[in-house]
Amino acid sequence: MITFFPGPSKVYPQLGGFLQDAFQQGILSISHRSEAFMTLAGEAIQLMKEKLEIPRDYTIMFVNSATESWEILPQSLLTGESVHVYSGSFGEKWYQYAYHIRPEAKAVVLEIDQELKPEELPVGEQTQMICITQNETSNATQVRPEVLQKLRNQYPNPLIAVDVTSSLAGIYLPIEAADYWYASVQKCFGLPAGLGVIICSPKAVARMQEIGEKGRYNSLGNIYDNIQKNQTHITPNVLGIYLLKRVMEMVPSIHETDQRVKEQAARWYTELEDKQPFELLVQNKAVRSDTVIGIKGSKEDIATVKTKAKAHGMLLGAGYGGLKETTFRIANFPALEAFEIEQLHEFLKAY
Ligand SMILES: *Cc1c(COP(=O)(O)O)cnc(C)c1O
Repeated sequence: MITFFPGPSKVYPQLGGFLQDAFQQGILSISHRSEAFMTLAGEAIQLMKEKLEIPRDYTIMFVNSATESWEILPQSLLTGESVHVYSGSFGEKWYQYAYHIRPEAKAVVLEIDQELKPEELPVGEQTQMICITQNETSNATQVRPEVLQKLRNQYPNPLIAVDVTSSLAGIYLPIEAADYWYASVQKCFGLPAGLGVIICSPKAVARMQEIGEKGRYNSLGNIYDNIQKNQTHITPNVLGIYLLKRVMEMVPSIHETDQRVKEQAARWYTELEDKQPFELLVQNKAVRSDTVIGIKGSKEDIATVKTKAKAHGMLLGAGYGGLKETTFRIANFPALEAFEIEQLHEFLKAY
């Protein structure tokens, strides 16, 4: 069965060998305070920086999930207002978690086809952070990287935090344009679930130190202090970090992946534009995601296409949240291979 679910998603086929290696090399039993772990974590971080073009002075930290990053942020990087801009379920959840801890959190809800206009945001002197879901996995929209750059230019003072759970390692992202990026690895990294990464700018680190929040196991300062020694604040997912290292070693530069992913996305959109009885979920080309393709239809048509695809050995991604029954999604993640993508194209063409 080929899975087109946008998370957990298809893992790289090379993982079978990597898992065997991890077992044979004794990785599964190493202590997270050992020299072997510190070397491994250091290499994984270094490779991520190289392959994803993350500036040297940014800090990469390991956590358990993207959801955990939602919570760490208001805990450790805010004492007041954050402005959350979103159009879908993941952005909304992030806002709700932030609001629970910092009721000063403000929500700016966009329509699915609406572009984010930096100059129109209610950002003022008191705004400490702007929070953007760059790739909204639930409704297959994205905030284009150029818009993040514009946002940075428009608002040099507040921290900018970006959820890139379903785009990091899939498309090129201008990391220097924001301060707090996070993702989990079961999407574009082509890895099994159970590991998250946070990428912080020097400015975010300085702010974290100024606020000095501590006492929680996942207080950002605690995570940061440990990673300075290539260690972690908890006994981490060592296997996940090992697999991350192996995958980062294997993948080409992010520009190459970016180009392939975008070409594949353009083909999906062209082919599905007039595909009866369906419609593209996102009409506005400027906000269509490159890594998650959304298709809508009647409940019956969606159920039928999913059943038929399954009979052909393919799992289409279910809709998410309120869109569960009236949409399906196609992951356009780098670990999917050309022959698998071809198979789905052929199935849909003949449909
Ligand atoms: C999947 C996803 C999350 C949640 O990831 P977890 O690893 O389950 O915490 C958050 N944000 C976006 C945009 C996602 O796609």
